[in-house]
Amino acid sequence: MIRKVVIFILVAGLLGGLIFDTPNKMVTGPRQESIAPKNGKVIRQSKVPVLMYHSIADVNSELCVSPADFKAQMKWLAANNYNPITLSQLYYHWEEGEELPVNPIVLTFDDGYADNYTIAYKVMREHGFIGVLFIYAKKFTTRNSVSEQQLLEMQRYGWEVGNHSYTHPELPKVTDQQLIKETSIAKDELSQLTGSSILAFCYPAGKYNDQVVQAVRNAGHKIAVTTNYGFSEKKQGLLTLSRVRINRSDRVSGFIKKLT
Ligand SMILES: [Zn+2]
Repeated sequence: MIRKVVIFILVAGLLGGLIFDTPNKMVTGPRQESIAPKNGKVIRQSKVPVLMYHSIADVNSELCVSPADFKAQMKWLAANNYNPITLSQLYYHWEEGEELPVNPIVLTFDDGYADNYTIAYKVMREHGFIGVLFIYAKKFTTRNSVSEQQLLEMQRYGWEVGNHSYTHPELPKVTDQQLIKETSIAKDELSQLTGSSILAFCYPAGKYNDQVVQAVRNAGHKIAVTTNYGFSEKKQGLLTLSRVRINRSDRVSGFIKKLT
């Protein structure tokens, strides 16, 4: 009797599985296929979204994405098989043909807010994500700054630290001497702090001109980002790349729309 019941359960389970699981299998099928090449590398990626965040906080400003929305945005990236990379990786991919993971994306954070460590870094770690933190030297002296220790911890985890100038001025307006301090000296000090060469630069307030770009190049930066809107492409010039600004009002639906 017990055997019959067991066989009945097995057969019913099998049939049930075949009949009722079919829709599920159709859903999971393609997803499994997209997981398969996750560790594969792409040979050529001409357009890459480089997202621009500032603060992750419940403050009513377009520059502050709410922590709940940020969590949901990262969850969506993970579910859709995106692979965050650094700007250096993008540089070596475009200049030297180094491979990238499939669905590459760059998550950049400007200025160095404390919540970039307490929220962004922690949330992103849950998905194994890395980002790029653009800090300006003077920020460390302000109340709402990431600390040097936190910055170094993020770097150890795989984050890239980028130069965002010394005092965050509009660079086209500064003197020649100041321009050197804001690009070259700022880079050297950041390099000393992090113990690594700094390749990436971010123009404060997105302001630049030919002279500023030249100073950024002379200082030894290899890749730089602006606030011009759009996906990054090599043809924009490696020192004047566009980014996709993520605003507080984007929530999750606007975020998805900007990426798809
Ligand atoms: Zn800034």
